[in-house]
Amino acid sequence: MLAKIVIANRGEIALRILRACREMGIQTVAVHSTADRDLKHVRLADESVCIGPPSSLESYLNIPAIICAAELTNAAGIHPGYGFLSENAEFAEQVESSGFKFIGPSAAAIREMGDKIAAIRAMKEAGVPTVPGSDGPLTDDKERILKLGREIGYPVIIKAAGGGGGRGMRVVRAEGSLLNSIQMTKSEAGAAFNNDIVYMEKFLASPRHIEIQVLADSHGNAIHLAERDCSMQRKHQKVVEEAPAPGITPEQRKEIGERCANACIQMGYEGAGTFEFLYENDEFYFIEMNTRIQVEHPVTEMITWVDIVKEQISIASGNPLRYKQEDIVVHGHAIECRINAEDSKTFVPSPGKITLYHAPGGPGVRMDSHIYNGYTVPPYYDSMIGKLITYGNSRESAIARMQGALSEIVIDGIKTNIQLQREIMSDGNFANGGTNIHYLEKKLGIS
Ligand code: ADP
Repeated sequence: MLAKIVIANRGEIALRILRACREMGIQTVAVHSTADRDLKHVRLADESVCIGPPSSLESYLNIPAIICAAELTNAAGIHPGYGFLSENAEFAEQVESSGFKFIGPSAAAIREMGDKIAAIRAMKEAGVPTVPGSDGPLTDDKERILKLGREIGYPVIIKAAGGGGGRGMRVVRAEGSLLNSIQMTKSEAGAAFNNDIVYMEKFLASPRHIEIQVLADSHGNAIHLAERDCSMQRKHQKVVEEAPAPGITPEQRKEIGERCANACIQMGYEGAGTFEFLYENDEFYFIEMNTRIQVEHPVTEMITWVDIVKEQISIASGNPLRYKQEDIVVHGHAIECRINAEDSKTFVPSPGKITLYHAPGGPGVRMDSHIYNGYTVPPYYDSMIGKLITYGNSRESAIARMQGALSEIVIDGIKTNIQLQREIMSDGNFANGGTNIHYLEKKLGIS
């Protein structure tokens, strides 16, 4: 195993990685900004290095500073977590060329999956179902574009090849506005992502978001860990996640899961990854692959009993996967509510000092969070301060436990979205399962 790991992240995921390392007997190095000296994992790590001022650009996105910290502490590998540099191919390249193991896939794989057109092409080749679309960049040939629009059928969506975070997309409902919309998306994408290549896809009216977790090692083995449903979203941000996805049959799971695992083998993919799909009328449509650990990984851990972070580290250490596909069995049901420091109604971030914190507990309750009594949530970073996960032998019991946990939890001093989560957990349509990606915004009256 890698002997010492730099945790190139902050907050709950940094603590999650630290806990995995500790269980594995691996030394940890926390790197942090000046605003994050009091983070829980900084206190618990074997060593810590301050890598810059509060601004992420100068700290958590500062590649030379992070590599320097790895050199100073004589570390063996770097875990990027999620967000920040986790899907930055240049970072992965520099980590490796500096002699450290990047805990994730190769820079080439990150680059390929970061280019949505290249990713879709790779998926088609591997037999993963994609959204009907242009299968490549849109050219300047207006006649061809109009013909393509008619073939795909309206509405269509224009998407930037280099887009991310729900940006760089435009829905076109009729032919009259197609060419103009393409121009606008192109110029926005050029400015935002330094890449004005766009492509066209069928716009699915009311899909669910269902994703497949995979693990692949450097010896040509890959498995899937079933699916998650992350349809409860606001502004393309996931709010609640669950596993397995309501209504997905074991046959569907096997079919789509095996396609994803095979795609990993074909691509020579290494590490943990997620294939994201839109799901409508019993069909899966690939939209993108995330080449890192995801926020919602715990719900998969609860139902498969696989520790995904430990597996990432083991794979990066060069070990073969410790599980075969037949070892992966789905047990019960798990739900995750993201806890954000923000107003439950306006969603305005609410940094500040936590004057009182009571974590919920009891059977099947897991709280992944770095907060503690007296901790001050800094204003510089993402507002997510924790994830509350519950497990039960059925979806109903997981929801009931979540309702109990949400009534027990106390976070005073700042505003949180706990009230919103309580409302979602007592929503009748959520209880039925299978609501689509527009459901939450409709419920909130914002779409
Ligand atoms: P990003 O990388 O910016 O997150 P995605 O390709 O994952 O972009 O798409 C983000 C969201 O946009 C999806 O979760 C979905 O809500 C919406 N979306 C993307 N493609 C389509 C489509 N073809 N039809 C309907 N909605 C889509």
